[in-house]
Amino acid sequence: MQTAVISDIHGNAEALRAVLADISSRGIERIICLGDIIGYGPEPLECVDLVAEKCAWSLMGNHDFGVLYEPTNFNPAASSAAYWTREQFDAEPDASRRAQRYDFLGRLRVRVVEAPPGSDVSVLAVHGSPRRPINEYIFPDDVMTAVDKMRQIFDRIDRLAIVGHTHVPGVFTDEPDFYSPEELGRGVYTLMTEEKAVINVGSVGQPRDHDPRASYAIMQAEDGELRIEFARVEYDVARTAEMIKAVPELSDWLGERLYEGR
Ligand code: ZN
Repeated sequence: MQTAVISDIHGNAEALRAVLADISSRGIERIICLGDIIGYGPEPLECVDLVAEKCAWSLMGNHDFGVLYEPTNFNPAASSAAYWTREQFDAEPDASRRAQRYDFLGRLRVRVVEAPPGSDVSVLAVHGSPRRPINEYIFPDDVMTAVDKMRQIFDRIDRLAIVGHTHVPGVFTDEPDFYSPEELGRGVYTLMTEEKAVINVGSVGQPRDHDPRASYAIMQAEDGELRIEFARVEYDVARTAEMIKAVPELSDWLGERLYEGR
C-alpha cells in the first residue's frame, strides 16, 4: 500500500486540488499531512476542509500554530497573513462549521510515530525537526555548516523521519549529506536496512527550490525496504497569485514568489 505525504499547503487550494487529483490518478488511497495547512495563501478554509476530509491525519505546523494561538518569530508579512487567516475562520457564518474547523486545528498533533502500512520501519513524522517539531528548520546547508546539529537530529531517529517546513524537498543521510530529488535516480530513494534518513517532502503550496510545481512524496514498502518517490505537479499558479494580490493583508510577494518557486 502506498502513502502520499503532503506538507506546507499554506492556503493554496489550487495547488492542493492538483496534488489530490494526481494522488487519486495513481490509485493512492492513504494521505498524511505534515502541517502548515494554512498561512500565506488565499483559501485557508478550503484547505483545512480538504485536509480534514482526505487525510488520515495531519500534524501541526508553525503557521497552523500561529493562526490558532499566536504567530511566534514571524516576519511582518507572515504575521499579517496569520491574522487575516484567523479572520477568515472567524467570519464563517455557520457556527458549527466554525467550531468544527477550530476543533480540527486544535487536535493536530506535533509528532507521530508509525510504520507505514505494509512496512515494519518506524517512521517519525514532524513538521520541522525531531528536536523541535514545530519550529526548527533542517536546511540542506546544515550538512556542511551544522554537523553537530545534524548528529543530534539523527540521534533522535530510529530509522526514518519525514519533515516539511523548509519547502525544499530532498533526502538527508547521516554522513551527513543532502540529495535533491534530481540527484537521486528517477527521483526515488530506497531506505536500506540499517540506514537512517530524513526525508523532506517539499511544499504543496509554496515550493522554494526554484521549481514552481507543487511537491509531495509517496512512501511504499517494497521487499522489506521502504521506497520514497518524489513527485511534482503543475497547477494554475496565476490563479493563486491573483487571489493573493486581491487581498490587501496578504503581501503581493507571497503571490509573486510562486511563479518561480522561491
Ligand atoms: Zn511552511
